[in-house]
Amino acid sequence: MMKISYLRISITDKCNLKCYYCRPDNSPFIYRSEYLTYEEIAKLVRVMVKFGLEKVRITGGEPLVRPNLDELIKLISEIPQIKDISITTNGLTLSKYAEALKKAGLNRVNISLDSLIPERFYQITKGNLNDVLEGIKVSKEIGLEPIKVNIVAIKGVNDDEILDFIEFAKEYGVEIRFIEMMPIGGEQINWSLDKVRYLDNIKKKIEEVYGKLIPSFSIGSGAAKVFKIPKVNVKVGFITPLSNPFCDGCSKLRLTAEGNIKLCLRTDEEIQARDVIRKGSEKELEEFVKKVVILKEKSNQNIISSGYQFSDCRRLMVSIGG
Ligand code: SAM
Repeated sequence: MMKISYLRISITDKCNLKCYYCRPDNSPFIYRSEYLTYEEIAKLVRVMVKFGLEKVRITGGEPLVRPNLDELIKLISEIPQIKDISITTNGLTLSKYAEALKKAGLNRVNISLDSLIPERFYQITKGNLNDVLEGIKVSKEIGLEPIKVNIVAIKGVNDDEILDFIEFAKEYGVEIRFIEMMPIGGEQINWSLDKVRYLDNIKKKIEEVYGKLIPSFSIGSGAAKVFKIPKVNVKVGFITPLSNPFCDGCSKLRLTAEGNIKLCLRTDEEIQARDVIRKGSEKELEEFVKKVVILKEKSNQNIISSGYQFSDCRRLMVSIGG
């Protein structure tokens, strides 16, 4: 049986930004009363460590909009097998919460930041760039590191800022990750292939200016191919679900806020887990997870044999979590 090393946990589908490719107008929402409680999430994590779980990432929606996130982090950090706890956040309110989260056991943060130009940042997200920069500074000061800044590369929207992001990474002492935009969210999202900026172009552009990139490593860098830019001592990662899929051997599962386990971003296949988490004994939950692992193995095989198609991803990214 394969080892499940990584669980990405969405704790809410609410977000204080409105990135147009992630959370369109009138998007459906999950009632708060349907959310798993923090204790229920921790119960699942305690069982999943028996299947190899070591890394947990907390996401949303925006994870910092759900109250008392530090309580969940504390519960998870008390599980000895968990070696790495991170969050993916838009960073808007991070400066306020970073200290308490670190104290609770958070190891590091990934921060989404699609533009360094305030007006453009606002156009994409409806948010204030300065708040995010403040969040990055505070995280750096208190050592929530390595800090990874994620950029969804969109053709004609922000792909003229590649070199600015490298200089930004140098100045702020962070790593950066470029991500190809995926067709998630069905017809609610205006995705088309001609908006996707393939990352080999970006890598080429960086090499033209900074010289050869050297393969490197970064903690928790599962899906990303990471390189060092020696000239500026910056690490840059490329996440290429479209141009170079990385499904073989994938051991990542996602848990949605209402307690569904999502096997992969490329399909809408989900397994309702809330009832067994809520009402089941530890033994019953263990049997359930065993079945999920078998389904994950099958799902990997199907995706590889289908040529890595994104088959039918109607659930919006805002309620998956990235
Ligand atoms: N609110 C948090 C944040 O902004 O990081 C966590 C949730 S957000 C859905 C997680 C990540 O998914 C963000 O970096 C976002 O840019 C990315 N994302 C959303 N839609 C995407 C898509 N279609 N393709 C690739 N990444 C996407």
